[in-house]
Amino acid sequence: MKDTEGLIVENENLKKIIKDRSDFFSITAHKLRTSLTALKWTLRMFLNKDLGNISDEQKKYLEKLIENNEKSLLLINDMLISNRENNNSSVKLNVTNINIIELVEKIIFIFYGELKNKNINLILNKDENSKLQVKCDEEMIIGVFENLIENAIKYSPNGGEIKISIKKDEKSNGVLISIQDNGIGIKEEDTSKIFSKFFRAPNAIEKENTGSGLGLFTTKSYVDKNNGSIWFESVKGEGTTFFVLLPTD
Ligand code: ADP
Repeated sequence: MKDTEGLIVENENLKKIIKDRSDFFSITAHKLRTSLTALKWTLRMFLNKDLGNISDEQKKYLEKLIENNEKSLLLINDMLISNRENNNSSVKLNVTNINIIELVEKIIFIFYGELKNKNINLILNKDENSKLQVKCDEEMIIGVFENLIENAIKYSPNGGEIKISIKKDEKSNGVLISIQDNGIGIKEEDTSKIFSKFFRAPNAIEKENTGSGLGLFTTKSYVDKNNGSIWFESVKGEGTTFFVLLPTD
């Protein structure tokens, strides 16, 4: 029989093995996600005929590829999330000062193809006079705005309009970011479930049959972990505005 000291050492070794595996998993999954995201936008450029004409048969194959790529991306996101959620040791925040305007502009650029594809006009109102920095985990904040902007595009009509505003919030001394769309909106009876794991409202399923219902759940958990707050206002059929308040110190 092992003595207590032996068991403690063994326990520590096991913890280290679990942490190393989880870190390896996380790094590999992030790399895969980056490649699949790049592939997604390239395939969409082909489909939008940005790179030249395509035949109906090529279009059919491209659509299938995009659908499968989307499924793989969702799977990787789910794996990353559950890895972080189940393994508290890897949910350490890496807090730095982030220039929030620059970060949001970079994310908008990622969605350039998608915005063009749906002919959506995106307007960015930024507070030019203030140096708007937030003190947060950058990777999590990227996840937050990727998800909110992707949803705004996904649930907007062709030719819609998205307004993003970034300004200092005098009351809390934080930075308030809002993302407003004129899309499908959220029904009053669904509002309490919007941040729940796996929830997708019926009008969202009808518009977009691909989706995991994990995006806003994760988004809220990231905002909470960074001592921020997130809420929304919506009218079904008219549009939705998500608000994110992030700390500056
Ligand atoms: P997904 O978009 O994969 O369904 P999310 O967790 O990102 O999952 O969002 C959960 C649900 O919240 C969506 O299915 C939809 O019902 C609703 N939702 C999120 N963003 C918007 C939006 N901009 N407009 C309307 N509904 C939205």
